[in-house]
This record gives sequence, C-alpha cells and structure tokens, in this order.
Amino acid sequence: MQGIDELIFSRRRRITVAVQPGGRVILRAPLGTSEAAISSFLEANAVWLENARRKMARLPVPPAPYKYTEGEPLLYLGQELPLRFEATARRAAVLPGEAIVLPRGGKRESRERLKELYREETRRIVQGMVDVYAARYGLRVSALRVNSAERRWGSCSVKASLNFSLRLAMLPVEAIEYVVVHELAHLREHNHSRAFWTKLGEMLPDYARRREWLKRHGGSLPPL
Ligand SMILES: [Zn+2]
Repeated sequence: MQGIDELIFSRRRRITVAVQPGGRVILRAPLGTSEAAISSFLEANAVWLENARRKMARLPVPPAPYKYTEGEPLLYLGQELPLRFEATARRAAVLPGEAIVLPRGGKRESRERLKELYREETRRIVQGMVDVYAARYGLRVSALRVNSAERRWGSCSVKASLNFSLRLAMLPVEAIEYVVVHELAHLREHNHSRAFWTKLGEMLPDYARRREWLKRHGGSLPPL
C-alpha cells in the first residue's frame, strides 16, 4: 500500500500508524480491515503522517540486535568477526582476526555466552590499562567491576572503584583506552571541570580525537 512500509493485521480494535527512526511507516489494523478503510484512515491523517515521517527520517536508524546466527558478524575490538558455532566448544572464545566461537545453543544461551565473553575480555583489557596508568600516575584503584550497562561506558565512585560496561569489548582499543583513562582521571578530579580535562590531556594527549570517535559511533552499536 502506498506510503506504508509495513502493514500488520492482528486482533485489535483500531487502526494505528507509527513512524520509526529513519522514516519507516508501520500501520496496524484489525483483522479483515478493507483497503478502503485503510485509505480513508491515511487520508484523514495525511498531514500528521507527513510531518512525522519528515521528523523521523532525520533520526538515525537504530542497529538491529544480534540474531545469533551462523556467520553473523559480531564486533570484537572494533572488528567484525563471524560467529561460528562449534559442537565441541564448551564455552565462548575469540579466535583473534578469525571468528567468535560459541557452543551450539539457542538464542538466549548464545546471548548470555557472548556477554560472558565480552565481560571477560573487557576485564582483561581494562585491567591491563588500569595497571599501566595507575603505576605511571601513582593512582590507587580500590575495585574494578564490569557491568552490563547499555548506555554508560564507565563510571568512577568517590571511593575509587571503577565500573565499566562489558560492551567496551566491542570498541576499538583506542576508544577503550579513552574510557579507561577518562575514569582514572576522575580519581584526581571528580567532575568535568577544566582541571579535569587538563589532567586527562596530560594522561592521554590525543583524547579529543578518541572522544569524538566514541560520540559519533558509540551510540550505533547493536544491542546484545
Ligand atoms: Zn567523566
């Protein structure tokens, strides 16, 4: 039907229309609704629909969540590695530059295993960076935790415990390093004052470039 990207009939009472980021129009109608009824609905809502479409077309299309199918590209340190299921694998593993291997299993299991892999990899990589910078700048970190935050890459508590998202393992190493050093700099300056950015600049002179990359790309990673 013209002007509609997807038409869904279901047990419902009324026709509704929704516009997604990117401008995709989805119309939902009760089972058995006639084409004429849909046309007159569209006519009655034409102005609203056109405005909504124009507004939503400007928004970036959010990435689709992983499906956990054989060969699907999964992010690891900024690279896409194909997912490979192996009957003999007992746990998730990365073959760097080659594949991410998971034991055969359903979608939910696979998601949990991938998250576990990202969690371990994030911990390993972040711990290595923390050790280097803490030694170099005489910083003391009381605890390091890896959580499953979707939107926040890292945080630092007043008690000097650092938290990082397991999704860091999806980012290029340069971006991970930015997040880690940013949180470490908070051990000296617990805010985003000028003094904080100066401190961060001493620790990571090209932080602005890395921060820019993260701003531009960090929000468009697929949900797990
Ligand atoms: Zn901060």
